[in-house]
Amino acid sequence: MMSMAKPKVVVLGSSFAGLTTARFIRKHAGDKVDLVVVDRNPYLTFVPNIQMEVLAGHDPLETMLLDTPAIHAKDGNTFLNAEVVALDPDTRRVQIVPSDRPGSAPESLSYDYLVIALGNRLAYDQIAGFGEHGDTVSSGFYGNKLRRRLAAYRGGPIVIGSARFHQGLQDKPDWLPVGLAACEGPPLELGLAMAHWLSTHHLGDAHKITLFTPAEMIAEDAGEAIVTPFHEMASQKGFGYLNNTQDVRRLHADGIEFESRASL
Ligand SMILES: Cc1cc2nc3c(=O)[nH]c(=O)nc-3n(C[C@H](O)[C@H](O)[C@H](O)COP(=O)(O)OP(=O)(O)OC[C@H]3O[C@@H](n4cnc5c(N)ncnc54)[C@H](O)[C@@H]3O)c2cc1C
Repeated sequence: MMSMAKPKVVVLGSSFAGLTTARFIRKHAGDKVDLVVVDRNPYLTFVPNIQMEVLAGHDPLETMLLDTPAIHAKDGNTFLNAEVVALDPDTRRVQIVPSDRPGSAPESLSYDYLVIALGNRLAYDQIAGFGEHGDTVSSGFYGNKLRRRLAAYRGGPIVIGSARFHQGLQDKPDWLPVGLAACEGPPLELGLAMAHWLSTHHLGDAHKITLFTPAEMIAEDAGEAIVTPFHEMASQKGFGYLNNTQDVRRLHADGIEFESRASL
């Protein structure tokens, strides 16, 4: 007797979006589907907490990685640690290459339903001088780089903010605003936490820190009702503030230059 094949769902990406989606699909579809999840990394990096771990002196690669293959195994999903290299919607196939050893051979994966949750692309490689002079808390590598820099910090001004957010504009409806910055919660959180870190390490306080934004108002998507009291509190604490920077042009040993021609 022939058994009916189950629909095959392939989820590309196993971070916040992919893992959550896979878990909900399994919860609602039960064992009626075959579920395959593909991610180049056999773990999820809990990005939002990297900055707190770094300021606490912890290695985020030790504390912020979640064992996603174990979760997929528990849910009855097949997890493939592979790079997604191509997608053909006409034949419903995804091309993948195993990601744990260089030189692995490409394979083709078929699907009935596809979820794409591959995240976005960072663009630090677009900022001149970033590799040598820049810091960020958006990955384990960079978090540890900042941790080492803080361990060697003895004073000097600190500048925290966002470069211009470059988003796709093709087919964008007019009602959808263009955000000059991506979510500016992280730079604000980092600014406040850094001021606390400076004072607990007897190295200064918020007066050492300038917050900047490419937009008219930092965290403008939060709205004036939230941002105005934040500004009052931040200026009372002594934070410097620079808006309308437009974009980051260049980082160098002594500071930062903006597209607006301002510099810090
Ligand atoms: C400092 C900081 C603080 C933040 N704080 C918050 C917060 O407080 N709250 C909040 O909601 N959000 C916060 N965010 C944003 C949040 O981290 C992102 O929105 C979230 O990570 C997006 O999840 P995602 O699954 O869409 O993409 P990602 O987390 O980017 O995951 C994409 C996944 O796809 C995989 N992948 C990508 N390309 C390929 C490929 N070609 N082949 C195989 N695998 C691939 C990656 O390995 C990764 O696992 C913060 C971000 C930063 C940087």
